Amino acid sequence: MNDTVYLLGFFCAIAIGFWLGRRDKRKKVRKSKERLSKEYFIGLNYLLNEQTNEAIDTFIKALETNPDSQETFDTCIALGRLFCKRGEVDRAIRVHQSLLARPSLTKKQSLMVQLELSRDYYSAGLLDRSEGLLTQLVEVSAGFQVEALELLLAIYQQEKEWLLAIEIGKKLLKNNVVSYSNLVAHFYCELAEEQVAKSNTTEGREYLKQALKYNKQCVRASLVLGKLEYSQGNLKESLKALQKIYNQDPDYISESVPLLEELRTEQSGSIQKSVNSYLQKCLKDYPSVAIVLSLAKEIEMKQGAKDAGKFIAEQLARRPSLRGLNQLIDIHIGIAEGKSKKNLGLLRELTRKLSDGKPLYRCINCGFSGQELHWQCPSCQHWGEVKPIHGVEGQ
Ligand SMILES: [Zn+2]
Repeated sequence: MNDTVYLLGFFCAIAIGFWLGRRDKRKKVRKSKERLSKEYFIGLNYLLNEQTNEAIDTFIKALETNPDSQETFDTCIALGRLFCKRGEVDRAIRVHQSLLARPSLTKKQSLMVQLELSRDYYSAGLLDRSEGLLTQLVEVSAGFQVEALELLLAIYQQEKEWLLAIEIGKKLLKNNVVSYSNLVAHFYCELAEEQVAKSNTTEGREYLKQALKYNKQCVRASLVLGKLEYSQGNLKESLKALQKIYNQDPDYISESVPLLEELRTEQSGSIQKSVNSYLQKCLKDYPSVAIVLSLAKEIEMKQGAKDAGKFIAEQLARRPSLRGLNQLIDIHIGIAEGKSKKNLGLLRELTRKLSDGKPLYRCINCGFSGQELHWQCPSCQHWGEVKPIHGVEGQ
């Protein structure tokens, strides 16, 4: 499809060449345009016959014979992009390097070719070369700055150079590209998680503070902060951080449930009470099976298995869920005897097979699904768009 579009572009360029050739009365220029048209045809013919090296030579020659021709320059740029998109990066690099060697290029054209070449290097995995070109480009050119910064950002993400990625993200924000505040927040979270893993809590807290400064809706920062404060014995601070998710993005409340349950086991009556009332509020406003099962555990502990089973059954009637059904069967297996227990065991085996291997998370951008939460989607590379799946087969 893309190839067709590009080839159509070539045909349009030919048509423009003819039109310009006819319109121009001056003999010298007419000769030049005629030659341009001829070279276009030859180049196009090579391209259609998949003689790509010959096509490159012809188009570059066309630029030599018509150094001032914007059409020929655009054709060469389009040709390079076509090769790059088709994965023929070596050919794309050859086109762009040949273009860059032309002394007739204007400054703007030269910068544009440098940007294209840095894209080729990036696609070829030559990140250092791409980074070198882009860094120069950002310094000298205002015109291509956003494109160059975006590509640099992609490089630093791939290299997990989070401090450099933050620096670039901030420059993009200065260019009024507001969508980068979410990314900057995630980069700070990456740094925070590294520090928390090394038990550097002060640095971890500072990075999380920065993450929330750039995106106060950053659920990840609240989750990491909740874990950090819990590890330091700051139970109230931990609960406070987790409760922020209610307003930030309730789709992720289920992610905070395991830590909420740990908080509930602490020997603090007020924390236990606060956790349970928070879970009740979440159940009322944003019900999910993770919340139902967590509340059922508490009921089972305080009032016994029968009441817990009754609670789950009531919730299942409102919102069917495989995980809920599994838990309900488990409770009944625990209190049943004889043949009933055996039959429930068979039923449990069946529902286990139904729920095993089902994805628990899905990217709202590209549809990628899996059983782990990725803050950066492994498929489309978007940040914060992989979410827990809710509903019958979800969480
Ligand atoms: Zn995705």
